[in-house]
Amino acid sequence: MSHDPNCLFCKIIAGQIPSRKVYEDSELLAFHDIHPWAPVHVLIIPKLHIASMVELTDEHAALLGKMSVLAPKLMRELGVTNGFRTVINTGPDGGQEVYHLHMHAMGGPRPWLKG
Ligand code: AMP
Ligand code: ZN
Repeated sequence: MSHDPNCLFCKIIAGQIPSRKVYEDSELLAFHDIHPWAPVHVLIIPKLHIASMVELTDEHAALLGKMSVLAPKLMRELGVTNGFRTVINTGPDGGQEVYHLHMHAMGGPRPWLKG
């Protein structure tokens, strides 16, 4: 399924739920996390509905590569100059809350709320 009508992030992609977008192209969307842990905290998501890393196959390799390459670009554009953290939570024990694959990218001066 490329789009899940019950998925929060698919609704954000469709514009049915508002978000503070920082980047969009045909394959990816990035927006500010609603509960930031750090001064800058964005989520990078594929527009394709992939529930979690458990669902990944070889055909997704380029897409994951694009997410990884986008993270430093966005951090730089958002003024992060002293390093950042990227996190992908997977499944219940991984602490995943939203089941649409997403990469957290967090930066800015410490202390942070978490992490
Ligand atoms: P995870 O625990 O890795 O699944 O992270 C889900 C993230 O989505 C959390 O950091 C939430 O704060 C964030 N989040 C949930 N709802 C929204 C929303 N409507 N807009 C932006 N971020 C959200
Ligand atoms: Zn989705």
